[in-house]
Amino acid sequence: MLISQDSRLSFEKSKPGRQGVKLPRARCFKKDVLSRLPEGLKRKRPLVFPEMTEPEVMRHFVNMSRKNFSVDTHFYPLGSCTMKYNPKVNEWASGLESFTQVHPWQPEGTVQGILRILYELEQDLCEITGMDRFTLQPAAGAHGELTGMMLVHAYHQSKGEVLRRKVLVPDSSHGTNPASAALLGFRIEELKSDKRGRVSLEALDEALDQETACLMLTNPNTLGLFEADILEITKRVHAKGALLYYDGANLNPLLGLVRPGDMGFDIVHLNLHKTFSTPHGGGGPGAGPVGVKKYLTPFLPVPMIEKKGDGYYFENDLKQSIGKVKSYFGHVGVMIRAYVYIRSLGLSGLKQVSADSILSANYLKEKLKDRFSVAVDEPCMHEFVLSAKPFLRQGIHAGDIGKRLLDYGFHAPTVHFPLVVEEALMIEPTESETRETLDQFVDAMTRIADEIQKDPEKVKTAPHTMPIRRPDEVMAARKPILSYRDQLRERMLAAEGAPAV
Ligand SMILES: *Cc1c(COP(=O)(O)O)cnc(C)c1O
Repeated sequence: MLISQDSRLSFEKSKPGRQGVKLPRARCFKKDVLSRLPEGLKRKRPLVFPEMTEPEVMRHFVNMSRKNFSVDTHFYPLGSCTMKYNPKVNEWASGLESFTQVHPWQPEGTVQGILRILYELEQDLCEITGMDRFTLQPAAGAHGELTGMMLVHAYHQSKGEVLRRKVLVPDSSHGTNPASAALLGFRIEELKSDKRGRVSLEALDEALDQETACLMLTNPNTLGLFEADILEITKRVHAKGALLYYDGANLNPLLGLVRPGDMGFDIVHLNLHKTFSTPHGGGGPGAGPVGVKKYLTPFLPVPMIEKKGDGYYFENDLKQSIGKVKSYFGHVGVMIRAYVYIRSLGLSGLKQVSADSILSANYLKEKLKDRFSVAVDEPCMHEFVLSAKPFLRQGIHAGDIGKRLLDYGFHAPTVHFPLVVEEALMIEPTESETRETLDQFVDAMTRIADEIQKDPEKVKTAPHTMPIRRPDEVMAARKPILSYRDQLRERMLAAEGAPAV
């Protein structure tokens, strides 16, 4: 990391003797209890805690949070991530004690309320996507893909079609698609996009054969474009005996408008943490439920939740099931948020989410296309991709524009993805922004375009107003310094030759 040794030292706020709260003596640690602890488990020296007053602790954490960019503080047009506003009523509901204090081993008779929510959420997702059943277990989008590809594998095995080991993936697809299929031993074949950034029917015909297990498709694709030939694509894939997998991570522009099931897809995963309002970006938890058509339901993970009379129960007896893909029942808190989000909006509200997300993206695209080149200049869905390639002459990359946007008070768009566009800036405004915010963003982007002509150095060295400016992104991910303890531990090691904690 770029944080210097000095600034790390000033980060240490502990002063010996300072105190926030005074805790009563623990009564359970009497001498006789301690004497029964095995020697190896006893601390050799007292636990080291930072010593601070309560106001210092409060200010420390509030100030830290204010150095961050979040949906609750800033416009966050991070393409493909759907950083929409997450209504607080969802947080309130998922935090209710009757949900958080339940143990996953409780008998099903004592958790009927939660089972009902999960059962009804499954029904809602079926209605939204046009599928017949869903498993709610997968923990994220990529985990949903892995689960979906296990279903593809199980389906072909059950038909004795053991040679179907090839998976087709368009070159514009999300990187997790080929990675998930490859994890299961499928051979990946990439489909080149046509000039309009969509699946080329010729390339598809050429690739389809008796060994094809599945086509994995994202629609709208990562350029924010709806696949114009979608019905023809699904027809041709089915005609060859292969299945169709729909990456529905970005379902935001389709709610109540079109359904993957009606397009002919056999399997779909959704990202509840994108479209259905769970805060994300910090690494989870999320949920990537997988929906299937009727002929694939025997293979779904166990347990499924079923209804009998007025009661709900876990069905574990599915002989062809691929088994469990997640401990217990998945991330139930995320599912409760999605349920409240769907039920509070209703069908007309969900439709408006999609319509507004499409409108916002097209508004921004039209306002920006004169100063930045658009990858494919056509009406888009919920997002669009600009290219910063024309600015390479001034030595400016897409990432530099993202950094400069921080100075103007905006989170960066997704940069350098999708890979099919050189110097890509992928912008997804979502439905939750006002026109004023969108106009301010256009204004900032226009000013940056001016700066690139007049003072490219200013953009190249941005941000100028942030506490951390250009960390080594690889090291920041692989060896993050996340707590004061990393430093404390180093110091103790140096001083005493043994770890403190
Ligand atoms: C975000 C995303 C994924 C992966 O989802 P995770 O929850 O991050 O695993 C897959 N496909 C697309 C199109 C996405 O946008």
